[in-house]
Amino acid sequence: MNPFRADLHCHTTCSDGFFSPAELVHLAHKNQLSGLSITDHDTIEAYRMIIPLCAQLGISLLTGVEFSSVFLENSIHILGYGFHHQNEEILNFCARHAERRIERNQAILELLAKRGMPIDEEEIKAILPSPTQECRRTIGRPHIAMAMVQKGYVSSIQEAFKRFIGEDKPCYSQGISFTVEETIETIHKSKGIAVIAHPHLIPNNAILKALIEMPFDGIECYYGTFAQEENKRWLQIAKQKEWLVTGGSDFHGTTKPNINLGSSWISEEAFNAIQQRLNSL
Ligand code: AMP
Ligand code: ZN
Ligand code: FE
Ligand code: FE
Repeated sequence: MNPFRADLHCHTTCSDGFFSPAELVHLAHKNQLSGLSITDHDTIEAYRMIIPLCAQLGISLLTGVEFSSVFLENSIHILGYGFHHQNEEILNFCARHAERRIERNQAILELLAKRGMPIDEEEIKAILPSPTQECRRTIGRPHIAMAMVQKGYVSSIQEAFKRFIGEDKPCYSQGISFTVEETIETIHKSKGIAVIAHPHLIPNNAILKALIEMPFDGIECYYGTFAQEENKRWLQIAKQKEWLVTGGSDFHGTTKPNINLGSSWISEEAFNAIQQRLNSL
């Protein structure tokens, strides 16, 4: 029998991933994952369609989401797990994020147009991968970057971020933002757990220190591109804080081609610890 492995961080066509929710679940099955959480950016749309499929394939599904938040003008990603997929608090928060994105994307497109790189919203929609199942999509900067490549403004997605739409670059717009505190609070109100995502991307130690004092429940200790040494640092923080240990690949499909679904994962013990905590809420 294969050892239990759960990948708790990946994206579908509901945000900026390449595979539809059902395709991703089939891929998880093919890659012999026992546990899965889909963590699309600011949406839980994927859960409308995969719960019966996971049960059918024997995959333990944990609900998840990756919320964008801002702390002292720095973008911080927060993972939420374990809420009910129809929970009103989470759904309302996702709806507010959807509004934020519409305005923010519009602002980015205006800045690009001012620099002689006009893109029509329809052109972005046209390049999105066509899903085998309908889902309302969250449009993000990776989609804008793909359109920029397609229109010949840049030669790669990386170049689009590096020159124009990365944070601190001339065509980036933050738009309205949600704080770390209110994101954690919303996840807690929905009876979920809040986890610091990919802590190696936190810009500096002062911010890390401040985040560690916030009421998180866990930290992502295993991640797509972490080296062994890196894991130890985050595991130590989890131990000190008595936080849950989570992990996942951050698989997106072709938009981040070097990361496979299941390349980072947690054990059955860590997965059960999360379930136990959720049951106690
Ligand atoms: P958004 O949430 O729309 O602001 O887009 C942020 C997403 O863009 C991140 O979660 C990544 O998936 C992706 N991203 C950020 N920086 C880069 C980059 N340099 N190259 C490719 N993708 C990136
Ligand atoms: Zn993404
Ligand atoms: Fe992220
Ligand atoms: Fe992610």
